[in-house]
Amino acid sequence: MNLILLRPDELAPVAAGSYRAVLADRRLAHLREVLRASVGDTVGVGVEGGELGRATIVALDEHAATLELTLGEPPPPALDVTLALALPRPPTLRKVLQQATALGVKRFVLFRAERVEKSYFSSHGLHAHALAEDLRLGLEQARDTIVPAVEIHPEHFGRFVRERLPALSEGRTPLVAHPGATTPCPRASIGPATLIVGPEGGFIPAEVALLMQVARAIDLGPRILRVETAVVALLARLAP
Ligand code: SAH
Repeated sequence: MNLILLRPDELAPVAAGSYRAVLADRRLAHLREVLRASVGDTVGVGVEGGELGRATIVALDEHAATLELTLGEPPPPALDVTLALALPRPPTLRKVLQQATALGVKRFVLFRAERVEKSYFSSHGLHAHALAEDLRLGLEQARDTIVPAVEIHPEHFGRFVRERLPALSEGRTPLVAHPGATTPCPRASIGPATLIVGPEGGFIPAEVALLMQVARAIDLGPRILRVETAVVALLARLAP
């Protein structure tokens, strides 16, 4: 955690431009156990959806930490890549959400494909609070405050591609990461993009055929990577 992320409702104004916040949850444990912070120390803070700043710890015990903070710095620029992901198994989803959030993705789209286990759509990892936790971990890692959106599309793959993907790709370059594609993944930003990543077992041929009608297939080389590794490699190459 490189940033203590606060919700706007946790801020109490104390003077012009300065605020007080009291923490009593996981962030308190982090301050005490990981940062081994004491009264007088300063830590990086950010407000969800808002600015970054610095906080001084003005009181600290095992029950609560009181911070006094000022804000004023913008969060880092977003990575303008919408990540459309065939829903992976829950532990992989967690890694992807955390890491892609840390890399600046602001929109995730989770869809169904033939080789996606149906049960994954009812996993508790898709509950709003579980998703929020993973997004928050990614933001805290990267010192960002802008919470990404996550959309879940459990409908049939064909319907998703025909009815939803066009809107998701409007004004963006649609790319599908597919091992063996003849075009290598670009090594620089190509502007706004929608990046489609397949399930752990890969897309079936009919799905590849359908995707090729709407997106450019790109390849990362001869190594078949795990979804979480492929996502990081792809986003790193598409970053400005
Ligand atoms: N056996 C499957 C592997 C799927 S890997 C197959 O051959 O398709 C899971 C997903 O990660 C893929 O659908 C693709 O989107 C991405 N991926 C993994 N390695 C990749 C590579 N070398 N190039 C492009 N995409 C890759």
